[in-house]
Amino acid sequence: MTGSYGDRDSASWWQALERQQLQVQQCTCGALRWAPRALCNECGSFDWEWFTTDGAGTVVTWTATHRAFTPGTVVPFVVVLVRLDAGENLLIPGGWTGDEHGSDLTVGLQVVAEFTSPDLRDGNPSTLIRWTRRNQAN
Ligand SMILES: [Zn+2]
Repeated sequence: MTGSYGDRDSASWWQALERQQLQVQQCTCGALRWAPRALCNECGSFDWEWFTTDGAGTVVTWTATHRAFTPGTVVPFVVVLVRLDAGENLLIPGGWTGDEHGSDLTVGLQVVAEFTSPDLRDGNPSTLIRWTRRNQAN
């Protein structure tokens, strides 16, 4: 895959997913942020670099979709919103490896990012996040 998905601020983020890395931006002031954007909310700086997280977080909320709004969409599916352990403002959505209705999800459940490369017709994005339950050993 070429990692051509995304815009000026997010293209590198999508490329990191292809390398199975969950990255957020880190400003020179130390603040972490996601979604990717040019400007730091804390200090206004335009200077930043990518920070690779361990992909660990906790479930904040989720939604289960039971009706396909576009042809070819496989339902049901679940989208989970996770707060990364790396920072309380880092809320990142992804799929779910558990029950397709989300019946095994609870707020505060400890999860970790996995990476999947579905065969999408348009070829983009090439790699997506799927959250999975964290093992005690993780
Ligand atoms: Zn800053």
